[in-house]
Amino acid sequence: MRFLYSDSLDYVDPDFDFVGDRQAADRRAHEDDDFPHEHLETAPYDGLLVSRAIVGDARRTGKYSEPQAMRFRREGARAFLRFPASRYPDSMIMGDNGAFTYRDEHEPPHGIDDTLEFYEDGGFTHGCSIDHLIFDFTEDALPPSDEARCRSDITLAHAEAFLPASRALGAAFTPVGVIQGWSPASMAAAAASLVAMGYNYLAVGGMVPLSIEQIERALAAIRAAIPQCVRLHLLGFGKTDHLEAVRRYGVASFDTTSPLLRAFKDGKRNYYAVGEGRDLAYYTAVRIPQAIDNDKLLRRARRGRLDQESLLGLEARALDAVRRCATGALAVGDAVEAVLAYGRYALWDDGASDGRNKARFDVLRSAYTRTLGDRPWEACDCRVCRESGVEVLIFRSSNRNKRRGMHNLHVFYGLLRRPRHGAVGPLP
Ligand SMILES: [Zn+2]
Repeated sequence: MRFLYSDSLDYVDPDFDFVGDRQAADRRAHEDDDFPHEHLETAPYDGLLVSRAIVGDARRTGKYSEPQAMRFRREGARAFLRFPASRYPDSMIMGDNGAFTYRDEHEPPHGIDDTLEFYEDGGFTHGCSIDHLIFDFTEDALPPSDEARCRSDITLAHAEAFLPASRALGAAFTPVGVIQGWSPASMAAAAASLVAMGYNYLAVGGMVPLSIEQIERALAAIRAAIPQCVRLHLLGFGKTDHLEAVRRYGVASFDTTSPLLRAFKDGKRNYYAVGEGRDLAYYTAVRIPQAIDNDKLLRRARRGRLDQESLLGLEARALDAVRRCATGALAVGDAVEAVLAYGRYALWDDGASDGRNKARFDVLRSAYTRTLGDRPWEACDCRVCRESGVEVLIFRSSNRNKRRGMHNLHVFYGLLRRPRHGAVGPLP
């Protein structure tokens, strides 16, 4: 199974100063920053998925600035993302239309011509047909609503027009037909239609809200309806704890941002490690948010009758305690209490009862004790952990949080490549 990282310009400043909490003075965004495949010694994925919604265009803004979007279109994905085929010869660059961003519209805003132009400008190796998300999921063959039927028809009609038009991009481009449906049976029927049109690579869309059981039922039905030689891609597959479950349906590739996002979006599972039985294990990052320029935090402190100076003092003591704990100069318990003393002002302000807050602190105390006590950064050989040490376990600002995300990609990809998960083969 090949893993594509769904990029949204996730980079770090390689010269970031952790103690001064500063970016390099002359840093130029993007040019001087490192993407995960640049910052780590090897790419922690088999390719990238670039959504049109992230790049944006004249009509819709994405995550790219306008000059960045123009450069992307001018230079192509590999040059812009500095992911050259010469260095990553078997890698994939897959494009999609970002159906989630136009989910509320009656029809997709994109046409065949502008979609192909995007794929051609980007130099994509694979590109998805234009699809429209279906939100219902039932066990019935009949559509639960006219809207579901309509969206299914729109997706198939676009796919039918996309395939012959995509031949203009040459043999180096693989068109990918997107499956949308409201049930396992309707998804299987859509897959069979796409194969009948001539597609031999299909992408399953709309899985984000589905449970792993529903996904498995859908994949079983799809697989039964198409020949084994037709490859399957899972679009936006975030349930990475269930890769073994989907692997048996002959899934060739999937994309996700999950390992990077969990570093700073998950409540507990922020730092990946290799656990018992060589499965993924997780650690909670130690939250020490920045006090300076944080109006919300300063307001809270004032309500707690704490002046700014005292708040900054607590923050500095928390950071210092974690660093001294890492060198062995301070006991784990003392470091955890220093972090929690600051966390009392820095973390919650939702008017919860004292009892509820005490319970929250007990959870954090035990999570932080495990993190600082186990010292997982010492067991990892990735560049992030080697260079940043305990800083990567501190939940604070983009440069630490995204570095932790890159470390997660390194661990995740390392486990994925192990034979039990299926060795990564040549480009299908
Ligand atoms: Zn690491």
